[in-house]
Amino acid sequence: MDLYEYQGKELFRRFEIPVSEGRSAATPEEARAAAAELGGQVVVKAQVLTGGRGKAGGIKLAATPDEAEQRAGEILGLDIRGHVVRKLWIERASEIAREYYLSLTFDRSEKQSLFMFTTEGGIDIEEVAARSPERLARLHVDPLVGFQPYQARWLAFTGGLGDANEQKQLAAIAERLYRASAECEAMLCEINPLIVTPEGELRALDAKVTIDDNALYRHPDLAELRDPEALPPQERLAKERGLAYVKLDGDIGILGNGAGLVMSTLDVVAQAGGQPANFCDVGGGAKAEEIVSALEVITADPVKAILFNIFGGITRGGEVARGLLEALDRMAIAVPIVVRLDGTEAEEGRRLLAEAARPNIHPEATMLDAARRVVELAG
Ligand code: GDP
Ligand code: MN
Repeated sequence: MDLYEYQGKELFRRFEIPVSEGRSAATPEEARAAAAELGGQVVVKAQVLTGGRGKAGGIKLAATPDEAEQRAGEILGLDIRGHVVRKLWIERASEIAREYYLSLTFDRSEKQSLFMFTTEGGIDIEEVAARSPERLARLHVDPLVGFQPYQARWLAFTGGLGDANEQKQLAAIAERLYRASAECEAMLCEINPLIVTPEGELRALDAKVTIDDNALYRHPDLAELRDPEALPPQERLAKERGLAYVKLDGDIGILGNGAGLVMSTLDVVAQAGGQPANFCDVGGGAKAEEIVSALEVITADPVKAILFNIFGGITRGGEVARGLLEALDRMAIAVPIVVRLDGTEAEEGRRLLAEAARPNIHPEATMLDAARRVVELAG
C-alpha cells in the first residue's frame, strides 16, 4: 500500500526525521487558511499516488495566502498520469542549497534491505544510476545484525558527502529511516529530494512510503490510511474483477496470463519497437467472462492494437479461444488483436480461431512474431 506524501511525512515526523511543517487542504479556501496559519512562503503540493508531480505542474510555490488559494485552484482537479488531484498538502517553503537522494528498499535477490544514497538528488534516480553509478552508494543491511553506525558513515562518505556536520545528520536520518521501515514493515521508504538548507540543515522534502500489504493486518493504524478513491476508475474496475492491471504510456494493449509471461511480453514488444499502453494479467482465467473484463479494462485506454498472449498450462488453448470468440461476440472491438496461443491444447485453440476467421484476429505462432505483428498493426 502506497502512502500519500503527507502520510509518509507524518510517519517520518513520528520517527524524528526532519520534515517541514504543513497542513492538508481539499479546497482553495482551505489552502488559503493553511497558508495564513503557516505564514510566509508556502509550497502547494498535489497529493496523488504517483511520482513526477513537480514536472506535471502539481507543485507550486506561493508567497501569500491569496496566491496559495489561486495555485490550489489550479492544481485541484489536475490529471497527473491518470490520478486526479483531490487533496493538497500545504507546507512551509524551504530554501534549498542542495538536493540529495536517500532510499531504503528490499533487494529480494540478496534477501536484505538496501540503502541508496547520492548527493546527486532532485532528478530521476534511474538517471544517476545510468549516468554516474559511482556516485550512487548502495549498502545492504543484514536484518539479523541491523543497521550499524559505521555503515551510516560509509553511506555518507561513499555517496559523496564531505561535510562533517551533514554526515552526522545523514547518519541520524538513515538510522531513523531504517527503524521506521522495520517497525512499519515498509517495502520502500524514499526521500527525493533530501535537501540541505542554506543553514546546513538536512530535511526530507518529499516522502514516498510503501507498506507491505501482507503485513497490514499487524498495523491497523497504517491500514486505516488507505484511500479507496485513490485508484483511477480503470484500476478500480480491474481490482473488482480480480485482474492485475497496470497503465503505461504507449498504444499497444497487452493481455496475458501470469505475471512472468506478461512481463516478458512487455519486453518483447519493446524489443520489436512498440510501446505498451497497459497490461492486464488474467491469471489462470480464460473464461469469456474474464476475457471480456480484461478487454474492457484494456480498451478503456486509447489502444491501437492488442496483443493477446496466452500460454496454456492448466488453462487449455481451446477454452481460451472459445472465451475470446465469445467475448468478441459480446463486445465490439474495432482494433486488431494479435493472438499467440501456446501450451496445452494450443492446436485446438488455433484451429478454432482459424475457423472463426474474424477479420480483426491475427494469429501468430511465436511471441516474437506476435510482437512484431502487433507493432506493425499499431502503425
Ligand atoms: P515529485 O516531483 O513528485 O517528486 O515532488 P517533490 O516533492 O519531490 O517536489 C519536486 C520539486 O519541487 C523538488 O525537487 C523541489 O525542487 C521543488 N520543491 C518542493 N518543495 C519545495 C520547497 O519547499 N521549496 C522549494 N524552493 N522548492 C520545492
Ligand atoms: Mn520527489
